[in-house]
Amino acid sequence: MDAKRIVILGATGSIGTQTLDVVRRLPERLRVVGLSAFRNETLLREQAAAFGVLSSGLACGENADLVSLATLPEADVVVVSVAGAIGIRATLAALEAGKDVALATKEVLVAAGSLITAAAKASGAKILPIDSEHSAIFQCLQGQKPEHVGRLWLTASGGPFREWTTEQMAKAAVADALHHPTWPTMGRKITVDSATLMNKALEMIEACWLFDMPIERVGVVVHPQSVVHSLVELVDGSVLAQLGLPDMRGPIECALLYPERADLGIPKFDILTQKTPLTFEAPDETRFPALALARRAAGIGGTLPAVMNAANEAAVGFFLDEKISFPAIVELTARVMDAHTVQPSPTLEQIMFADDWARGAALRLMENRY
Ligand code: MG
Repeated sequence: MDAKRIVILGATGSIGTQTLDVVRRLPERLRVVGLSAFRNETLLREQAAAFGVLSSGLACGENADLVSLATLPEADVVVVSVAGAIGIRATLAALEAGKDVALATKEVLVAAGSLITAAAKASGAKILPIDSEHSAIFQCLQGQKPEHVGRLWLTASGGPFREWTTEQMAKAAVADALHHPTWPTMGRKITVDSATLMNKALEMIEACWLFDMPIERVGVVVHPQSVVHSLVELVDGSVLAQLGLPDMRGPIECALLYPERADLGIPKFDILTQKTPLTFEAPDETRFPALALARRAAGIGGTLPAVMNAANEAAVGFFLDEKISFPAIVELTARVMDAHTVQPSPTLEQIMFADDWARGAALRLMENRY
């Protein structure tokens, strides 16, 4: 079997470096032909040297040409793990060029799901999830007929504020929100999103697009141990789950080798020695209003999910800069959504415009109100 040739957009971030670790462990199966980074050029050069990537396969900087890298003729799979919505054009270009996309940046599907899934359908390229929940659902769905699937259940750790009161959350510091209980190696934006449950809100919309499901059939269950990565409920009431340690190298391996599998030689979930009881509970939507925003955004559709995503991204930035309180992240996102005039069936330009508008609206609200 020839090695799969991969391009990693966002190579120096958390998912990028873990993807390179997977490649290092499977040298016969995977080969890196392209790498991009936003800021960390030093690490990018080190990675290129270590994995034998030619300078023609490198892109670095804010204006790096991700589209050329995503359509590199020699690439089979493009890993999209850039921060936020900036990966949309590159993802579209890769799919249009018939390349499978291993997608870690959920914001791409949230903002432009209709265009992304249409591009994959048109070229026959696959979108393989590198989100642990969606990887779990993807694995549970193998061999199932679509008409047999009743409901998808996304598990949520509940984040660092699972047991905090509304009053306590109002005073939460940046450091409190950056302390994730079960997934310690994630980037800052997604860690704050886990604390607000906005990460789960984005994942609900991501699941709708990936698995062609209406939002009413995507549920969320709080599971603080992060061992069950998600579940699929069939129409006869049977529930399938995927279990594993919280280690993103599992979903990365699953996406990159699909439909094959390989042993990475990393610690495995041991059902006999694992001591923690596994618990499940309904999320408290009064303390965590982000999930309702996802239902509203997905239900109305058009440009509204892109606006929710962009407003949240801006608001998380304000919180990290200590300009707004923790609860204000979701409040501000909701207000920007309220103020938006939705464009149904948007083009890429209209989505980009809505994204830009939402960031501007979030900034004005922050300056005036919070
Ligand atoms: Mg996830």
